[in-house]
Amino acid sequence: MTRAERRLILTSQLKLSNEGKVKVSKEAVSGPTGGASFIAELQPAIAPRLVERFDSGELDWVEELGSTAKVRVAVDLGAALSEVEQRDLTNPVGGSQPNFYPQPGSLDPPLFAVNASHFSYSGLQQAAACPLRWYAETAIGMPNAWEGASEQKAPALSPRVRGVVMHGLLETQRFGQHPPTAEQAVAAAAVAQEDLDARHAPDVIAATSAVLASSTWARISELGLANPKAVRREESFALLLDCGRHGRVHLRGVLDVFLREDSGLVQVIDWKASAGAAGSQDLPALVAADYSIQREAYALAALESGGANRPERVEVIHLYAERPEEPVSEAFTQQDVERLRKSLQTRVSDLLDSGFPATESPHAGLCSGCPAARTLCPHPAEMTARPRPA
Ligand code: SF4
Repeated sequence: MTRAERRLILTSQLKLSNEGKVKVSKEAVSGPTGGASFIAELQPAIAPRLVERFDSGELDWVEELGSTAKVRVAVDLGAALSEVEQRDLTNPVGGSQPNFYPQPGSLDPPLFAVNASHFSYSGLQQAAACPLRWYAETAIGMPNAWEGASEQKAPALSPRVRGVVMHGLLETQRFGQHPPTAEQAVAAAAVAQEDLDARHAPDVIAATSAVLASSTWARISELGLANPKAVRREESFALLLDCGRHGRVHLRGVLDVFLREDSGLVQVIDWKASAGAAGSQDLPALVAADYSIQREAYALAALESGGANRPERVEVIHLYAERPEEPVSEAFTQQDVERLRKSLQTRVSDLLDSGFPATESPHAGLCSGCPAARTLCPHPAEMTARPRPA
């Protein structure tokens, strides 16, 4: 209360003594069973004549407290509740309001609204894969099932930790130097506040070394040694998206490598570590399925970089540690800017309108460790444990 400099709104409830009449006994406001403990505590300070006002039928008045403070007291006799009850049930409430009419499989109803003013592109990408999982983990904050369920056994090295540590090592790797050691991997994990058992460090080092041995890294390294300013790592960006009735949404992210040559060539390079890539028959299709939102966000951020000196053309490259000589590249030009912006805006709006249902296409790779599995998720275990559908 002491931090409210301009306006503080307090609400409470009490039971009127006769339905339809504003008549309240002193006991109902201050007594132990009046159901109005909040009012009972504050009433002497904020509305000294509360009971008399109610008894005389006043519903809205201003109480003068001393020479500077004023308290407006408003009594709601249930009109707001009636309005909700009479609402057309076929007309879902969307946006940042609680969704009273969720789609089958979504939360019933969500406990609270999603703060829609900020998104990370990776969050948006995860939400596109399964809105319910994203909601459970990000909006509700349910712990990952490996952390939350003691009877489940965590995998030896989680793909997430492997990827986080590999990115940390590649961020600080000096150009032209030897690959990092296992000790450096453990240290990088600690910096990222991840737990990396020393026994698993060689796995991370192998993935990192595969990237460092690639032609792509050789090119970045050569350019970085010749012109350090041309290669930036872990470059942050923020895109402001106009998402209609959801308002303006910041989409934030970080580029693993942002490369800008004097020739005008601009590339964004993203490192990936994924067991699924090793046996993939179609890497471009894998990237399109898993990282299309990320690619759009990267392309738009790169095309809008440089102030007045925007690049005419940019390339977004995904490189898997498991397939280091097969980078997947897609080019974009300034003609794509509006399309990219519109697509991202639509993706955010669609997510916020969706009611956060579970994906219709669950599989083990997506559902592993999901905190909503077997609780909020409508899919049976045989669906969430199956291999990824072709
Ligand atoms: S178990 Fe799978 S389908 Fe179900 S909520 Fe989690 S990620 Fe989505």
